[in-house]
Amino acid sequence: MSGFGLDHLPYGVFSHLGDTPRVGVRLDDTVLDLAAATGRPELATSSLNAFLALGPEVWTETRAQARELLEGGSPTLPLADVTLHLPVEVADYVDFYASEHHATNVGRIFRPDGDALLPNWKHLPVGYHGRAGTVVPSGTPVVRPSGQRPGGVFGASARLDIEAELGFVVGVGSRLGTPVPHDAFADHVFGVVGLNDWSARDIQAWEYVPLGPFLGKSFATSISHWVTPLEALEAAWVDLPGQDPEPLPYLGPGATRGLDIDVEIEVDGVVVSRPSYRDMYWSPAQMLAHLTVNGASLRTGDLYGSGTISGPDADQRGSLLEIGWGDESAFLADGAEVVLRYSAPGTGGGRITLGEVVGRIEPARG
Ligand code: CA
Repeated sequence: MSGFGLDHLPYGVFSHLGDTPRVGVRLDDTVLDLAAATGRPELATSSLNAFLALGPEVWTETRAQARELLEGGSPTLPLADVTLHLPVEVADYVDFYASEHHATNVGRIFRPDGDALLPNWKHLPVGYHGRAGTVVPSGTPVVRPSGQRPGGVFGASARLDIEAELGFVVGVGSRLGTPVPHDAFADHVFGVVGLNDWSARDIQAWEYVPLGPFLGKSFATSISHWVTPLEALEAAWVDLPGQDPEPLPYLGPGATRGLDIDVEIEVDGVVVSRPSYRDMYWSPAQMLAHLTVNGASLRTGDLYGSGTISGPDADQRGSLLEIGWGDESAFLADGAEVVLRYSAPGTGGGRITLGEVVGRIEPARG
């Protein structure tokens, strides 16, 4: 079982022998040229955006068509013969902070004498706007960032970290001034990607007060080549652990459905943690409702991250900051390679494997 069977069929953008990038669907270790097989012009482009904008009915039709073509024996290309590209032209990028375990751990590490969770945390999904232009596909090298560290000292980051997250890809935009209700999640969100929110903790620690993350995060965010459509995750929905106090009505107190997605974090060939997305506090639908409650509109290609996925146990932490807990040697050295892997229950009874996210650290340049 590859995890990429007929019950998965994730979408990506590929090129073959240097030709024009276009949309394909993965089956096992092969790629179906969906642009050629369907003749649909929205698929003959270098990002998924034109297809995403068509909306859920077309997504469903196209998925059924891809499945039919593959079942009918349509020819595919070996994955090893194609080049994979960034699947989505990212419009706006927002990152949340939706794991109570992660927020509590970080609160304890950054503010040992204060409350681990700040007073707003259980009332709203905390988030910030990130940098869409530095979202890169899996495999892109990550150059160690330089900048101001605590005390105003300039230098290369000595505390380079990862954040294992899930990213949600918006297909259908919304009207400026009109919030998107929590129950319209599936009308707007197309699917999910694996996401590594690379973080320079020393730069972050010096700059983040009072306006939040900035240069400690914006140098790179890696996502998987493959976008898993929500339709492939229908068997993965679970109730989240519970919310107290009850969220405001716009956050849909009943909308607390999360995804049963297991994550594996590997650093230099060693698995260092196995968190699960089912332990998150805020749900994907609540995050979407919150990010539009002020009337901010969605655009095709918007990406929002879940925040670091950490579970209750020590072997379920989603960042090296938490895994090392004060041990400076836990942060990434030059040449270190990080792989994030994700799996979920599939609709066919087995498990599907989401696209992995790989990144290797290159030495600082400035
Ligand atoms: Ca993050």
